[in-house]
This record gives sequence, C-alpha cells and structure tokens, in this order.
Amino acid sequence: MARRIDAYLRDLVADDKFAFYETVRDFGDAEIAPHLLHWEREHQLVPDSCLRAMGELGLFGLPIAEEHGGQGGDHTDLVLMGLALGYHSQAVAITPGAAISLGAKPLQLCGTEAQKRAHLPALARGERMFVFGLSEPGRGSDAANPQVTAVRKGANWVLQGEKCWSTNARWASHVIVHALTNPAGPNGKRSTCFLVPMDQKGVFYQEMQGKKVWEQSSTGSIMFDNVEVPHDSILGAEGDGFKVMVTTLNGGRLFIASLALASLAFALDKTRVYAEERIQFDDKPIGRFQRVQDVIVDMDIALERGLTWLLHCCRLYEQNKLSREQAAKVKVDCSRTASDLLVLAMEVCGGVACFDEFGLIRHHNDLFVTRVGEGSNFALKDLIVRPLRQK
Ligand SMILES: Cc1cc2nc3c(=O)[nH]c(=O)nc-3n(C[C@H](O)[C@H](O)[C@H](O)COP(=O)(O)OP(=O)(O)OC[C@H]3O[C@@H](n4cnc5c(N)ncnc54)[C@H](O)[C@@H]3O)c2cc1C
Repeated sequence: MARRIDAYLRDLVADDKFAFYETVRDFGDAEIAPHLLHWEREHQLVPDSCLRAMGELGLFGLPIAEEHGGQGGDHTDLVLMGLALGYHSQAVAITPGAAISLGAKPLQLCGTEAQKRAHLPALARGERMFVFGLSEPGRGSDAANPQVTAVRKGANWVLQGEKCWSTNARWASHVIVHALTNPAGPNGKRSTCFLVPMDQKGVFYQEMQGKKVWEQSSTGSIMFDNVEVPHDSILGAEGDGFKVMVTTLNGGRLFIASLALASLAFALDKTRVYAEERIQFDDKPIGRFQRVQDVIVDMDIALERGLTWLLHCCRLYEQNKLSREQAAKVKVDCSRTASDLLVLAMEVCGGVACFDEFGLIRHHNDLFVTRVGEGSNFALKDLIVRPLRQK
C-alpha cells in the first residue's frame, strides 16, 4: 500500500530530497520494522548493528559540512530522516536525530574551529556521540539557572551535580553540560556550557529504568562528582550557556515535530486500511460510517497541514530566519494534534489497537514525549504569547 505521506512529500520537496527520503524509508522497512517487536518485548535499546548501519548510511552526519566530514545536507534532510524512520519507531529515529540536533548542532553553531575539527568528523560517522545536558532532577522547564555548578580552579573548572533524561547517554562519548558559573550575574548570563568526556574521572552514568516511551532510545542520568575540565572545554562564550542551549533547541523542536508527524502518518495508513478491512453489521466495512471517516479525514488534513508548515519552517531555519516562537508553535501544534488524533485512531481500530504488534499503542506512548520533550507544550506557550502581548 502506498503511504499517504509519500504523496505529500513528493510535491513538497525537490526530487533529490525525495530520493533521499525514499532511501531512508526503505532502510527503515528493511532494517527496523521487522525487528521492532522483538526489541520491544526483549526491552532492548537500539542494537549496535543498527547504529552501525545508520552510520554507514551517513545519517549521523546529515547536516554536517563536507569539510568537517559530514554529508553537507541541511535541516530538511534531518526532518526527512525523522519522518522516514519515525514512521516505524520514534525511538530509533531520535537516536541519530538527537545525536545531530542536540549533540553535534551546539558544536556547529557555537564551537571554535579547533573544537569542530576535533569532533565533527567522528560525530558525522556516528563513532562519537554528544548528549545534551540541560535537564536536571530539579530543573526541567525552568532550565535557565542550573543546579549543576562549575567553579573556577586555576586554569580549570570543577563541575558538581546531576543531569537527567539525557538522550543517547548509553552511547555518549561526551556530554554538553549546562552549568551555573556566575550565580550573581544578570539573568541569562549566569551559566556556561562545557564539553565533558564521559570517561573523565568523576563522571558516572546510569540508564534510567522504567521508561515506557521511546523504549529503544537510551535515556540516562549523569552525575558529576568534582569533575575537573580545562578552560578550553567551554562551548560558546563564558556566561552564554543558556544562549547555546536555547539556540540549539530551535532546530531540535523541528525534529520533534517530524517525529509527531511520522507517528500520525503511520496511524493514518493503519487506520484507513483497517477501516476498509474490518467488517461489522451487514457485511460492510466500518469505513462506511461517517464518524469513522471523520477521524480518517481529520488525520489526513492534519498530516498535509503539518508537513507543509514544518518544511516551511525548515526553509526559514536554513535561511537563519526562524524565530523561537515559530519553532515552538510548529512543535506544539504537530505534537498536540497528532497525539489527540492518535487516541481517536485507536478507537476506530478497537480492541486490536491495544496490542503491541498492531503498532498504534507504541506511537500513542511515544507521542506523549513529543508534547513534553524539548520544552513542554504548556511552557512553550509562554514563549508563543510574548509577541502577542506586545503593544
Ligand atoms: C524521553 C525523554 C528524553 C529527554 N531527553 C532530554 C535530553 O536529551 N536532554 C535534556 O536536557 N532533557 C531531556 N529531556 C527532558 C525534557 O526536555 C523535560 O522533560 C522537559 O523540558 C520538561 O521538564 P520536566 O519534565 O522537568 O517538567 P516540569 O518543568 O516539571 O513541568 C511539568 C509540567 O508543568 C507544567 N509547566 C511547567 N512550566 C510551565 C509554564 N511555564 N507554564 C505552564 N505550565 C508549565 C507543564 O504541564 C509541564 O509539562 C527528555 C525527557 C524525556 C521524557
């Protein structure tokens, strides 16, 4: 069966971009879809063989410049990867997705040339991975003033505290730590980002247990116990830590929106096929009921609207014109609409929707992360309302 999303993307992106999407889509069909249920039932993270295969396909280096060992692509490529892999599994898609949009991106945006040359080629090959250490047990939405501290000690800095919910921690070579460096400084200038090797003395990682979303994705907590790093570990300028993190999140939110739409695209295909095949009352398909058709039509409208909007935002991002409000809006809308519709899609499919092999329950659970991750939708509305309140 042809995927509905393919018909939209064929019109929305250039031929070479669509060909790239097809390559990743076919990779997902061959290398992810057949194994997903087994990985889930065995509570496995993305296997090393799959990480290697994604690396060989160049997925970890998509928007990294060729001179730094990447594919020289753009944010549209990243989002197309999210749509292609997320159709089967957001958890697999977020692995290269976060490695790029939260790991390599801060380095691309704010790193020195020496830092880029030292790390980007290995990041692009997927041989090295950075994690984004913003959230802490006591600092989620309120991330500007971290409880992790970094104190100057001669030529070095000493870090203390804990980061949590760090995606890809299991495979990380380094963590980008957002730490308080100047508690008395002006708002927005109190923190600094440090690039810390995971094997540095005093760094301890633990996989967080009991997570029922993005099950194949690694989510870790990382402790820093008197971790000493040199001054040139600073990423961006001293005092600009929050700026580095916030700038990174703009692109990350577009990727999260792509995952939400990928789940919606899967649910639309699954539901429209089921509605034609499931026979009830008078030997006729349930797809003849208008209330069932309503759900399918609303999903189709939301998918076309979301894709058009998201790809427009990617173009603005590539031209350095995407505002924080625009990135927040598309993430809020795609995640909220897709997860609201997912519940209705499951209702259309009835009892089978409760079982893992049908696939909808996985997307239902994963869509919850898209509402909360990279800024909870409720909190992001504080950002969206700002220009609306200006006189
Ligand atoms: C699977 C997963 C992976 C993640 N990966 C990473 C990662 O790689 N790196 C990283 O740094 N973080 C990561 N996170 C953390 C994620 O970004 C945070 O969960 C998110 O920022 C919200 O923080 P919180 O969960 O502490 O919620 P809280 O800040 O405690 O907020 C709880 C709820 O309160 C409400 N609320 C909070 N503030 C406001 C407000 N201003 N206005 C209105 N309502 C509000 C909202 O309903 C919100 O959902 C991940 C989280 C998950 C679940």
